[in-house]
Amino acid sequence: MRTQFLPFHFPDIGDAEIRSVEETLRSGWLTTGPKVKAFESQFAEFVGARHAVAVNSCTAALHLALDAIGLKEGDEVLVPTVTFAATAEVAFYFRAKPVLVDCCPKTLNIDVNQIEQKITKRTRAILPVHFAGQPCDMDELHAIAERRGLAVIEDAAHALPAWYDGRMVGNISDMTCFSFYATKTITTGEGGMITTNNDDFAEHMRIMSLHGISKDAWKRYTAEGSWRYDIIQPGYKYNLTDMAAALGIEQLRKCLAFKNRREAIARRFNEAFAELPAICTPYVKPGREHAWHLYVIQLDLDQLIISRDQFIQELKRRNIGTSVHFIPLHLHPFYRDTIHYRPQDFPCATWAFDRILSLPLFTRMSEQDELDVIDAVTDVVLRNRR
Ligand SMILES: *Cc1c(COP(=O)(O)O)cnc(C)c1O
Repeated sequence: MRTQFLPFHFPDIGDAEIRSVEETLRSGWLTTGPKVKAFESQFAEFVGARHAVAVNSCTAALHLALDAIGLKEGDEVLVPTVTFAATAEVAFYFRAKPVLVDCCPKTLNIDVNQIEQKITKRTRAILPVHFAGQPCDMDELHAIAERRGLAVIEDAAHALPAWYDGRMVGNISDMTCFSFYATKTITTGEGGMITTNNDDFAEHMRIMSLHGISKDAWKRYTAEGSWRYDIIQPGYKYNLTDMAAALGIEQLRKCLAFKNRREAIARRFNEAFAELPAICTPYVKPGREHAWHLYVIQLDLDQLIISRDQFIQELKRRNIGTSVHFIPLHLHPFYRDTIHYRPQDFPCATWAFDRILSLPLFTRMSEQDELDVIDAVTDVVLRNRR
């Protein structure tokens, strides 16, 4: 058994990132500037989108995207219940309402067959989340959105890089929001990006991300800039720093290599757990290329004498860190008490929540780390079979 705790995640920061940040620190330009502009254009090119707007979190990205479509008080947006707080909370920034949608039992992505029944006269947008890094059913989603006149804003916090039917996530919908939080597939510590092919959305979000000040506000301290600026909207303070972008530029270069490494680990886990009927490995639909941000297994509790929580405890005793993605939003006190959602309103997500756990999956894992995860999971299953 391992003597050292294997964390659930460890970021992959190399010498290139450290040098790049150091160079930025020495340059004298710390906040939004040339590094952010370079990161934006490289990111746009990477996902094949016309525009990329850098911000300081994916939450900010989601907020600005909803602002770009002109979300108003009383409006509704459709959000999967299996997601992180951010996807739904941004609706409240507008006094709008997130209407939660249940998941597919296998992928845990939004169930596109339950979307139409949740649409009302007030619905403005659908916010699909590519859970764990597997793209949602985008054709079905777009067909509904088009028929009902809704915007599609993707929460792609897990989906860099991912492909749906050969199309890269980031240029499929009206707007796509990415996260560079410390645990995501590439990181700037904190950071985010919105990609879009719509010039008006891009311009609006760029302006709102920096106090609603007219174009290129960041240039006012450069030789080519001017002290004069116009406030044209009451904006926000969501700009990314050059220090963060310096990290992001180097991380983006490694994005595909990182993905290949995570995919190799995921394959190895799949093979190892195929022999354990109590472990249901991640299901990937045909035509999807998974980013493998998370490796989420589902326990078959009928075959075990322990619960998911005990399973996590047993792995911890074997020095393996895990996590749970996610506690569905409808089970949280705020949603339960204000929107009065009940567990049985989302049977798939409620069922899955008792069975899911996320195993360590990160590029810095050694071969021995992989084996230790496999051995620990196997040992817990074999000792706790019904
Ligand atoms: C991490 C995450 C976010 C929020 O990202 P931040 O950059 O931390 O704001 C949003 N949605 C999902 C699904 C996430 O996992």
